Order: sequence, then structure tokens, then C-alpha cells
Amino acid sequence: AKAEFETRVCYYESEMDEHARQRRAMANDLWQALENNAFNLVYQVQKSVSTGEITGYEVLLRWDREGYGPVSPAEFIPVAEECGAINAIGAWVLRTACTEAASWPEPHKIAVNVSGMQLSQIELVDLVKIVLYQSGLAPDRLELEVTETAIINDKKRALNILTQIRALGVSIAIDDFGTGYSSLATLRSFPFDKIKLDRSFMSEVEHSEQSKAIVRAILALGRSLSVPVLAEGVETIEQLDVLRLEGCNEAQGFFLGRPAAMDWEPSAALQRA
Ligand code: C2E
Ligand code: CA
Ligand code: CA
Ligand code: CA
Repeated sequence: AKAEFETRVCYYESEMDEHARQRRAMANDLWQALENNAFNLVYQVQKSVSTGEITGYEVLLRWDREGYGPVSPAEFIPVAEECGAINAIGAWVLRTACTEAASWPEPHKIAVNVSGMQLSQIELVDLVKIVLYQSGLAPDRLELEVTETAIINDKKRALNILTQIRALGVSIAIDDFGTGYSSLATLRSFPFDKIKLDRSFMSEVEHSEQSKAIVRAILALGRSLSVPVLAEGVETIEQLDVLRLEGCNEAQGFFLGRPAAMDWEPSAALQRA
């Protein structure tokens, strides 16, 4: 029995080593990717539920990892946070997104995801200032998406940073709302301009009365706080109908548009010029 136990421990440890090794290799490649321009950005449309008008675009990071192909940000962002590359990557995303959007023929808003680690650094305020100045993007065209978990690490510091960024004219959205613990306390103490309802609520909203009741409650909360609510992960027309009926302000999801490179029709740009 003892031998068996030891083999198991060994097996377990070597698996841990393998896992750690893979993360180190990915961390290395992330730093390389920054130098080699292996990242790029895609944009996913956000629309008004009542009018269908475009209200903005969420900026999503893509990485074509050499020798592997595309890797999901859900997989590499945590590694970037662990190895400290997230600040450089986040700065690249912000700079590139603002520069690209500043040259769009139409002045749509962009929503950039910000990691919790970036939110613990006061330098983020200067970065936003410099990027806005250098890109020429109007501050009211920039929104930062932050999750509740990003804030709870160091509430005071995050509040200070977000307040300063908001004073520049940049808006703040709370991302994945409803999945963190302390949602209501966060809403009370932080200056948010938008609530992004997590997409997990959308997947069942047509069939489950419970999910619908939660969505309804969050929409009521938004109304009473005068904060617009955007529903994420809208994949069907039925889901959009429910949102319309319940008075949701904005929506985003595969049904309205997949994340894609921003290719403006050259003719459209010329006509406007
Ligand atoms: P998120 O901020 O919640 O972004 C929305 C994710 O949902 C995106 O995945 C998007 O492609 C996906 N999505 C959009 N519509 C639908 C839909 O109708 N159905 C389903 N099933 N999914 C939909 P993506 O691009 O793989 O990003 C995953 C996560 O990685 C993001 O979740 C965000 O937390 C993180 N991320 C992406 N880009 C960045 C970035 O530039 N910086 C940071 N810090 N995090 C990023
Ligand atoms: Ca987001
Ligand atoms: Ca989200
Ligand atoms: Ca998410």
C-alpha cells in the first residue's frame, strides 16, 4: 500500500511540474509576443435594445501563439497576470485600441477590459491620460470594463484610481455582474456608468423563470440607480425579445455580432471624408 501511495504522489508531483512548466513556457511566449507584435484586437458590437443603434464596441484581445495557433484570452490572461506581463499587455491593448478607434470614420465608443492587477497600480491613471492625449481619442469615447473581483483586492486603492480616471471623462462599466460575491456593496460604493449582466444569466432566460426573475431584478436595480444595464451573451432572437420586454438598455452577443477585425469599407470612409 505504501508503494502505491508513493507512486501516486510521484505521479501527482510530476503532473504539477508539467503544469508549471507549461505555464512558464507560455509566460515566456507572452513576453516574446509583445516584442513580435503577435497580438491583435477584435471588436464586438454593443447595441441599444430598443432602437438597434450601435452604442459601442468591446475590445477583445487575440493571440496567435507561434507553434500553437490562437489561444483564448481566458487561458492566457491569468498566466499574464501571474508572470507580471499583464501590465505591459494591458498598456498595449489600451494604446492600440485608442489609436485604432481614433481613426474610425464613425466616432463609436470602445470598451476596454482592465485586469485587477492593472487596477492596483496608480500608474494606470497616467497611462490613460497619455494614451488619450497621444491618440487624440475623445475621453467620452473610452470605457473601461472592470470586474468586481478586480476591485475587492484593494478596495480603497481601486476606488481612488477609478475616481481619477472617471474625472478625465472616461466611463466605467462593471463586468460580469452577478457572478462576484458582494455585488450590491460594490454598486453602492463605486462610481459605475454601466452594469454588464454576466452572460450566464442569458443562457437560460427563455426557459427558466428563475433566471428571468434575476434578470428582472437586476434591471430594476439598474433603473433605480439610474445606471444602464447591458446584457452579455445574447445568442438568440428569443433572448433579445425577453430583454426588450423587460426594458434592458443594451445587448451584446453572437446574435448581434461576433467579435471581428474592424474593417471599414474604404468607400464609406472616403464618402464621409
Ligand atoms: P469578457 O470580458 O466577459 O468578454 C466577453 C467574452 O464573451 C468574449 O470572449 C466574447 O468573445 C464572448 N462572447 C461574446 N458574445 C458571446 C455569446 O453570444 N456567446 C458566448 N458563449 N460568448 C460570447 P473572449 O474574447 O474569449 O474573452 C474571454 C475573456 O478574456 C473576457 O471575458 C475577458 O475577461 C478576457 N479578456 C479579453 N480581452 C482582454 C483584454 O484585452 N484585457 C484583459 N485584461 N482581459 C481580456
Ligand atoms: Ca468584458
Ligand atoms: Ca463580461
Ligand atoms: Ca468573463
